[in-house]
Amino acid sequence: MRLVLVGPPGAGKGTQAAVLSEKLGVPHISTGDLFRANIGNSTPLGQKAKSYMDAGELVPDEVTNEMVRDRLSDEDAAQGFLLDGYPRNTSQAEVLTGILGEKHLELTAVVQFDVPEEELVKRMLARGRSDDTEDVIRRRLAVYHEETEPILGYYQDKVIKIDALGSIEEITGRALEALRSHQ
Ligand code: AMP
Repeated sequence: MRLVLVGPPGAGKGTQAAVLSEKLGVPHISTGDLFRANIGNSTPLGQKAKSYMDAGELVPDEVTNEMVRDRLSDEDAAQGFLLDGYPRNTSQAEVLTGILGEKHLELTAVVQFDVPEEELVKRMLARGRSDDTEDVIRRRLAVYHEETEPILGYYQDKVIKIDALGSIEEITGRALEALRSHQ
């Protein structure tokens, strides 16, 4: 199964991605986690990404696309994957289509997590990550609406929309059920 999870920051994508990856037996590939690991290890990639992340802006596409291309070429991603936080704009979506197309593959589905905006800010402030200050949160939400939401139009009939309010188990259940009926 080759999945992309899409949703605004604070929608619980990361949590769901971890659970779903375990249940579906495919690796969880989070571009945010990959960037944070690079920052933690002070790699050149991490140095490039840090200022963008601190400001709530997208890391430039060239840097992000190369990192994803590399990660998808790892052996564990050959049988499927769950992408969390990528693609984040239409141009990244087109690159992903190209990467998969080279292997004659396409995505199984795009899972969209739907959460009301007031709830998102509340959840992010509670999370306390270094890029979770109020100004940066607002910027990340604006970037989501302006740049990421249009990918839902790009993917059209691959999109499965999930109500992401409720307990972790409830939301996982909805996602698994929707994936079953989508196939
Ligand atoms: P996340 O952990 O998905 O919330 O991502 C944290 C931050 O990492 C984002 O605010 C961006 O600065 C950066 N980032 C993660 N994924 C991408 C991506 N696909 N394209 C550009 N920047 C990204």
